[in-house]
Amino acid sequence: MAAHQEKKPSGERKQKNTQNDTQTPQVQWGRAWEVDWFSLASILFLLMFAPLIVYYFIMSCDQYQCSLIDPLIDLLTGNKHLSDIWNKTPTLTYRAAGIYTLWVAFQVFLYVFVPDFCHKFLPGYVGGVQEGAVTPAGVVNKYEINGLQAWIITHALWFANAYYFHWFSPTIIFDNWIPLLWCANVLGYAVSTFAMIKSYFFPTNAKDCKFTGNFFYDYMMGIEFNPRIGKWFDFKLFFNGRPGIVAWTLINLSYAAKQQELYGQVTNSMILVNVLQGIYVLDFFWNEAWYLKTIDICHDHFGWYLGWGDCVWLPYLYTLQGLYLVYHPVQLCTSNAIGILMLGLIGYYVFRMTNHQKDLFRRTNGNCKIWGKKPEYIECSYMSVDGTKYYSKLMTSGFWGWARHFNYTGDLMGSLAYCMACGFEHILPYFYIVYMTILLTHRCIRDEHRCFSKYGKDWKRYTAAVPYRLIPGIF
Ligand code: NDP
Repeated sequence: MAAHQEKKPSGERKQKNTQNDTQTPQVQWGRAWEVDWFSLASILFLLMFAPLIVYYFIMSCDQYQCSLIDPLIDLLTGNKHLSDIWNKTPTLTYRAAGIYTLWVAFQVFLYVFVPDFCHKFLPGYVGGVQEGAVTPAGVVNKYEINGLQAWIITHALWFANAYYFHWFSPTIIFDNWIPLLWCANVLGYAVSTFAMIKSYFFPTNAKDCKFTGNFFYDYMMGIEFNPRIGKWFDFKLFFNGRPGIVAWTLINLSYAAKQQELYGQVTNSMILVNVLQGIYVLDFFWNEAWYLKTIDICHDHFGWYLGWGDCVWLPYLYTLQGLYLVYHPVQLCTSNAIGILMLGLIGYYVFRMTNHQKDLFRRTNGNCKIWGKKPEYIECSYMSVDGTKYYSKLMTSGFWGWARHFNYTGDLMGSLAYCMACGFEHILPYFYIVYMTILLTHRCIRDEHRCFSKYGKDWKRYTAAVPYRLIPGIF
């Protein structure tokens, strides 16, 4: 359904704004046009240090058995120099470059050339051509949703190889982990730089580009909203899902295979991490059409933050628990294993149900039941840059009545479960929960700032009705 139609599938309605509407003073929403000093300082910090942080974590596992403190002690006491650590670091190899090129090329092939067939036989699965949300310029993009299919094909080939064909070792990812890191960085920087150049010379939709005039901010946060090559190759959907999230479960499988090779068994903690993160990944692909309505796709522009983040940060740092367990094979007692499994499953349930409630509410325009009752909501309106006025609704019942981002709370419970599966000997596997807490709290604030610019007074009415962000009664 195109943007110019009267009634949108999300339940949003639109009308050309002919009078000066005092209810909706806000006309600018989406990524910022101006850069404040704090954002600029954070961006410079991340541009300089994020690649070093990834290297430090991976090197600590490779050279220091996952201790984050020992490398520092060695350096501070003069026991080792930076050059000693660097000289011990595996370099880029032709083999890793070959593996990585094949991997990315295969994912591009699956994304661009294999139309979705899963939606034809999987009841309830939404795949094939789907529409995204209205962009600030009033555009509605179409996407080919075929991530679940790509995930299934890739994993079927992985298992076929591991148990039948034996073309390569299932430990191949672990065995080439640092050489592959260099390849992922090359792709991450290449795609972010390409996206920046593209936005100046051949943007996909010039009206949805934002230039702040600050090179670093534009490089990091992106200029183009939805860069594409041709009609279907969408940078955001591809890079987040394919080299990022399809890889996540494969990387974990490779770690499990390495445990098997080294110790002759796979520990229950490794199984827990594989299963809980596997559920999260599968959920992502099962709900890929829903992902089109999330902040990543609806509001973030494509820059280094998404490009490099999807290629390097996500596959390397989201999988630290499995990597840690290769070096420290933790066998949990049954009660701890069950407790962690329950925490992970409850977190997943909260995360999924909260997201589902919003999706159902928006799809049916509020004509649905949430916890057996008609949902409560606040009517709101906003305008796109061409002055068209849209109407929408913000739900105030179900999990959305408990807190404004209860989906993040569920996500955090799940994240804590992955970390706890690794025991309490080292802090490295706890990086994920620390990072997710910062990411999601920052995201809350960012999203609320954006929603306020979008909905104005209506957003204030909503925050008065649902006063807490993540934890009812506390924050
Ligand atoms: P949400 O799915 O919470 O979407 C926020 C948007 O929903 C708002 O911008 C607003 O958009 C709309 N909205 C807000 N409140 C309401 C309401 N009460 N009723 C109806 N619509 C509302 O945020 P994200 O896109 O950030 O997250 C999606 C999921 O992805 C989350 O569960 C999160 O935990 C997960 N996530 C995971 C990450 C990871 O790295 N593992 C990273 C980021 C997210 P509109 O303009 O349409 O009104």
